[in-house]
Amino acid sequence: MILIENVAVATVDPTGTEYGDGHVVVGDDGRIAAVGPGHAGAGWVGSAHRSVRRVDGTGCLVTPGLVNTHHHLYQWATRGLALDDDLFGWLTKLYPIWGRLDAETVGAAAGAGLGWLALSGCTLTMDHHYVFPRDGGDVLAAEIEAARQIGLRFHPTRGSMDLGRSAGGLPPDHVVEDTDAALAATEQAIDRWHDPSPDAMLQVAVAPCSPFSVTSRLMSEAAVLARRKGVRLHTHLAETDDEESFCRRNFGCSPVEYAEQLGWLGNDVWVAHGVHLDDAAIAKLGDTGTGVAHCPSSNARLGTGSARVRELLDSAVPVGLGVDGAASQEVSHLGAELRQALYTARIRGGAGALSAREALLLGTIGGARCLGRAADLGSLEVGKLGDLVLWRLDGLGHDGIDDKVAALVFGPPAPVELALVGGKPVVERGALTNADAEVLARRARRAHRRLLRESR
Ligand SMILES: [Zn+2]
Repeated sequence: MILIENVAVATVDPTGTEYGDGHVVVGDDGRIAAVGPGHAGAGWVGSAHRSVRRVDGTGCLVTPGLVNTHHHLYQWATRGLALDDDLFGWLTKLYPIWGRLDAETVGAAAGAGLGWLALSGCTLTMDHHYVFPRDGGDVLAAEIEAARQIGLRFHPTRGSMDLGRSAGGLPPDHVVEDTDAALAATEQAIDRWHDPSPDAMLQVAVAPCSPFSVTSRLMSEAAVLARRKGVRLHTHLAETDDEESFCRRNFGCSPVEYAEQLGWLGNDVWVAHGVHLDDAAIAKLGDTGTGVAHCPSSNARLGTGSARVRELLDSAVPVGLGVDGAASQEVSHLGAELRQALYTARIRGGAGALSAREALLLGTIGGARCLGRAADLGSLEVGKLGDLVLWRLDGLGHDGIDDKVAALVFGPPAPVELALVGGKPVVERGALTNADAEVLARRARRAHRRLLRESR
């Protein structure tokens, strides 16, 4: 049991309850046993039968752990490349390198990416993995092992590409899979890894890559597969003008209309980006409960545009935040994405377009809705899982900003004093609990160098 006291609390519950000085108790079952103002009361103090870890949260704000709704962990091995390209140019440069991926490289990249995410306040992340070279080994198992080591709650997706260049797609033929083989491997991944229980540390979703790298048959059969298995669906959608042109040219409609035709709208679907959406498309997403993983830093890095987050929220679209792959935004810091989302919305729509509390909502309960975990995660409420972050806000960068939520979102990325997943520490005093960041960095550096050498 963990008892956190003397702490500012932002619960992100349905009424936005906050306490300037409060407490949170996480029980032995890994769920929140109490949250409220002032001290926790004598009932929670340890006895001979119960050991209680007491945490003094003076100078800190506790929030739900941040939820990352879009990532490509393998890209940690190809950071800092194609720095001035747009999406299609960037992909064209990187596909041949990614074609050399194997389990060791993906495991090393995932270790670094997940460790860094944890240090940035993330407690639950998805991963969108869609490159499966023929002799690459078990890359999904490698990243799942990395997540187990770091201790994060993990939703890897079994992605896929089956539309190579010779068939009119963007990726070179040697990095795409056979359609039926991709579907069979996706089903195997669900059977092997997906845990449907409310406490699950590991859930799998189905995630063909994008309209310009996947056939219509793979998209529609993937949707049928996911629904038969009761798992969620994810893909890239409406990211760039080039994608819009591709869909108009090849399918005679917009990306969202294409998704609708393929059975890809629904409250079991969340799409990455959703940058280029007209009013009709936003209404369709809202009416169907289709979620959007908003990735403002990646969109900025690739010069893609800025998603209409205000309009998405006003149309009741579930919106979460995503860092996206580390090769399309080298920061990959989920805490920093709170401010990036706020700034991006305000550049588009003025100072009233998004508040600090709305940014926090996107990063927590909004993300939990996208990943289908809102019943158990995304807010600090009694009975929910004990995934939370204690942000240190009394250092030079934040001290003097009285509104702690404003300090977290408007201020520089805050150090993580403590991060819990199901009540278990994954970060303490700014360091990983279960791994050595230097070791993760060294292994990832070796993987990066080997990958570049082999793909020359
Ligand atoms: Zn992506």
